[in-house]
Amino acid sequence: MASGLELTTLGHRIRHHRTHSGLTLDELGAAVGVAGSQLSLIENGKREPKLSLLQAIAEATGTEVSDLISGEPPNRRAALEIELDRAQSSSVFRQLGIAPVRVSKGMPDETIESILGLHRELYRREREAIATPEEARRANTELRLKMRELHNHLPDIEALAEKQLKAAGHSSGALTHRTVSIMAEQLGFELLYVDDLPHSTRSVTDLEHGRIYLPPASIPGGHGLRSMALQAMAHRMLGHTPPTDYADFLQQRLEINYFAACCLIPETAGVAFLQQAKKDRNLAVEDFRDAFGVTHEAAGMRMTNLMTVHLDMRLHFLRVDESGALTRVYENDDLPLPMDVTGSVEGLTVCRKFSAREAFSQRNRTTEHYQYTDTPSGTFWCSTQTGSTDGGGFSITVGVPFDDARWWRGRETTDRAQSTCPDEACCRRPPAGIAERWSNKAWPSARVHTHMFSPLPRGAFPGVDDNEVYAFLDRHAAQ
Ligand SMILES: [Zn+2]
Repeated sequence: MASGLELTTLGHRIRHHRTHSGLTLDELGAAVGVAGSQLSLIENGKREPKLSLLQAIAEATGTEVSDLISGEPPNRRAALEIELDRAQSSSVFRQLGIAPVRVSKGMPDETIESILGLHRELYRREREAIATPEEARRANTELRLKMRELHNHLPDIEALAEKQLKAAGHSSGALTHRTVSIMAEQLGFELLYVDDLPHSTRSVTDLEHGRIYLPPASIPGGHGLRSMALQAMAHRMLGHTPPTDYADFLQQRLEINYFAACCLIPETAGVAFLQQAKKDRNLAVEDFRDAFGVTHEAAGMRMTNLMTVHLDMRLHFLRVDESGALTRVYENDDLPLPMDVTGSVEGLTVCRKFSAREAFSQRNRTTEHYQYTDTPSGTFWCSTQTGSTDGGGFSITVGVPFDDARWWRGRETTDRAQSTCPDEACCRRPPAGIAERWSNKAWPSARVHTHMFSPLPRGAFPGVDDNEVYAFLDRHAAQ
């Protein structure tokens, strides 16, 4: 029943009452019928006394058992010793492999206080490191809002990429591996593909020997490798120094991603392609993707970099996983997105009626799903492509306000949905009948979210989407 910590406090209280009564260990031991050495173990918190012994000790020292087992340290010195004992038995301290201090009777209080000061600071720093997800969310939100102001466009990096591509002899079409290697060579680097990169890295650059180590291609010809090589080079070209805080880290990551995107779809060629497609009223993410040999996600995101600045079109980009949680997002067209109190949107669940989620229920998922959605901020037209990874299904959506749908392929779709989110009645609250049917008759066990931006979904059960749970139960109960 008693933990080590409680035993320490108990031991201190027994010692306090013994010395107050002017008894030695052996004298009290004789009075209660145990050896003085046994009593010493109890006073040091190393052994738990039986209740009968506690009663005998209370009687011999003129106190009550309730007083002996009180959780309060008996005096200031004992409080210091108990706190030190607690600190030295914590896993944070034990991980350091430093031998704990043994407190002797003659050790001054100031010495213990000084050691405790170090322990408190160690604990505070550990806590700070753990609090990083909060900081990460805040920094992420700030960066997203800053990029929104800039219409997701960074002209300096666009220009740098065009210059580097020109120097490497690239003129049009998809960027080849060969060209990426030439770009690296011009920077004084050799690209090496190894299968033993540290798990926590995407690439490692050996500045002394001019080598960039990259993982081997998992999908031959995929654009992932070119992108990773370009990102590794970008750190160098953009003059990055080790990030000082999380915001700095995110900024650098955004810049290297941006540089790689500029190389894979250069501004001049990309804008020319999009302007022609707009003229033909045939804008499509899939065409943009195929023309430059990139993923659907990269093509969609690249549209947000170029279309507001060059085609005067506002738009949104969403990457949503099968649970409906936003994993990557950009908007400057006022699409109503879910948002937490800090203004963060990543990890939150988008409206069930959005194209980004409706697309999962389409029978034919090889082509884009087109949909109009009426929202409190107006009507939006969206095109969504679904895909899957080892981690599960996801969807990529690019959409525009109603007026701009006329430039896009798929504008003639008759699919139309109404969303009133963030109104809970839109899609978050389970329908009344089904909620009544299952309330108090269901017990889902929540799965732990590993995504660091994921807050717990709200509902009848913490961490669980009750709407989905009830629908699931209904479906299976009917069989
Ligand atoms: Zn909704």
